[in-house]
Amino acid sequence: MEEERRMTEQEFILSFEDAVSCGHIYVVYQPKMNHNTGRMIGAEALMRWRHPAYGMQYPSDFIPVLEKNDLICQADLCVFESVCRLLRKCLDRGIVPVPISVNMSRYDIFRNNYVDEIEVIRKKYDIPVKLIHVEITESSAIGGMELVTDVLQKLHGFGYIVEMDDFGSGYSSLNVLKDLNVDVIKLDMRFLSGSIGGRGGTIISAVVQMTKWLNTPVIAEGVETIEQADYMKSIGCNYIQGYLYSKPLGEEDFLKKLYQIDHEPVAAAMNMTTHMDADKFWDPESLETLIFNNYVGGAVIFTYLKGKAEILRVNKKYIKEIGMNMSEKEIMACDPWKCFDELNMKKYKKTILLAAQSGEEETCETWRTVCSKTCGEDRICIRSFIRLIGRAGEQLIFYAMVQNVTAEKKRFDELMDSERKLRAASEHANIYAWEVNLDTNDMHPCFRCMRDLNVPPVVHDYPEPLIENGLFPPDYADMYRDWMRQIKEGVGTIEGIIPLTVGRIPFHVRYTTEFDENGKPLKAYGSATLVVDNEANSPDRKE
Ligand code: C2E
Ligand code: CA
Ligand code: CA
Repeated sequence: MEEERRMTEQEFILSFEDAVSCGHIYVVYQPKMNHNTGRMIGAEALMRWRHPAYGMQYPSDFIPVLEKNDLICQADLCVFESVCRLLRKCLDRGIVPVPISVNMSRYDIFRNNYVDEIEVIRKKYDIPVKLIHVEITESSAIGGMELVTDVLQKLHGFGYIVEMDDFGSGYSSLNVLKDLNVDVIKLDMRFLSGSIGGRGGTIISAVVQMTKWLNTPVIAEGVETIEQADYMKSIGCNYIQGYLYSKPLGEEDFLKKLYQIDHEPVAAAMNMTTHMDADKFWDPESLETLIFNNYVGGAVIFTYLKGKAEILRVNKKYIKEIGMNMSEKEIMACDPWKCFDELNMKKYKKTILLAAQSGEEETCETWRTVCSKTCGEDRICIRSFIRLIGRAGEQLIFYAMVQNVTAEKKRFDELMDSERKLRAASEHANIYAWEVNLDTNDMHPCFRCMRDLNVPPVVHDYPEPLIENGLFPPDYADMYRDWMRQIKEGVGTIEGIIPLTVGRIPFHVRYTTEFDENGKPLKAYGSATLVVDNEANSPDRKE
């Protein structure tokens, strides 16, 4: 007998036909478990090759050879048939099976009738479609999203549940996930290695978090230790596959296991046929939702890679804050930078990078031009609170809470504008100006009031201190208090001539009130102009 050893590429190719026909290629089954309940939720079929002379060969050696030599499809169909045979055996013997997943190589995807071929086999063994899942890898999407999308649609059309294998292995994971309508995600712990407490853990929890937003069940595979399993459970991922529970088992051992352990179906979310339920996805009650724990306002989740941003999710309140009549889909479909001008985009990107660096929440205010079919174009100012929530390769994942501060900004701008005008005018025309906050009774004087009349920068409890210090003469105090009362009650303008300071210099004092959207008086803007000699009703003449 020859020694057991790894076979060469040539040997694999030469012995392939025999291997298929003589059963040297066979299948082992690795259980998928619910770590929370200890029940089995499914199993994965894995290909094995035992050469009569060279012994056990492993997929990592022969799968690439089969792929390269256009033999993988035949091998996969052989695996598929073995799985159907096993399921038929279970059904015939009255053993309740679990769904078995089969691996679909990306070369199977390229072959356009592969799905039809497995359907023929499934029908031949009369296996309910729900008992077979298909695993496709994220890398299948490389070089042809359309092809994968078509195959996925076809599989779904027949009723297969499709699992995305090796999720997190490629840097494009997030985009692929967003675009491919898969039913289950398999997260390989081996790709996300690193200490669980450190970066590895952060990535895993961000990814699990994201799968939750997509409302897609996730299975952690390659789980070897109880610590890993408990960690996954702690971040809301109960489904586990790995050596911790079981190595891949030969058919007889697997059947025994099926007998011994209870089964359960994967949680209902698995049967999702609609892409997602946006309401559930943003359910503020779902406490696992790390990000939305304490927050109830508008929020967006987006990825950022080399200057490019892509919106993954927005909630309803986000749409409301932005104030446009657009659907979530429409918002997600457009380039997020489209509504920014150069300056505002720079500002936003700077804040993103700052947030990535600091790990803290960073804030910025940016103007954007939004447009929609119904509302036309509009300029809005959004205050964003941005926080990094994860990384996948070079790709950064952020969430941002948003507030529409357009009205606030416009008011401020108007105020700045009027203040500027007022300042300029006052320099020329001996005008003194101030404003009174009607909530707090604080008065803020202009620099002239401060300079010429010795008014401090803020006067609390206005106007009392200025009555006390004699700026308003005592005989005018009650009249002036009554003005303030009228203003607070909603009078828009009020004016009159008041002799100011102990010198009783006549001033034309005038107030204009500012209201909020509900008509509540917010501020009163006061001004005082020196009355020139010939003005008719000099107050002192009244006395
Ligand atoms: P995969 O689909 O990601 O399969 C999981 C692999 O991880 C299996 O390796 C499994 O034995 C191994 N594994 C499971 N639990 C653990 C664990 O706790 N720790 C570690 N270190 N490994 C664990 P296997 O069977 O060697 O398969 C390797 C790859 O070969 C598979 O990766 C899959 O991509 C491919 N493959 C296997 N069977 C088939 C098949 O029938 N068809 C196709 N197209 N590809 C297959
Ligand atoms: Ca797999
Ligand atoms: Ca895998």
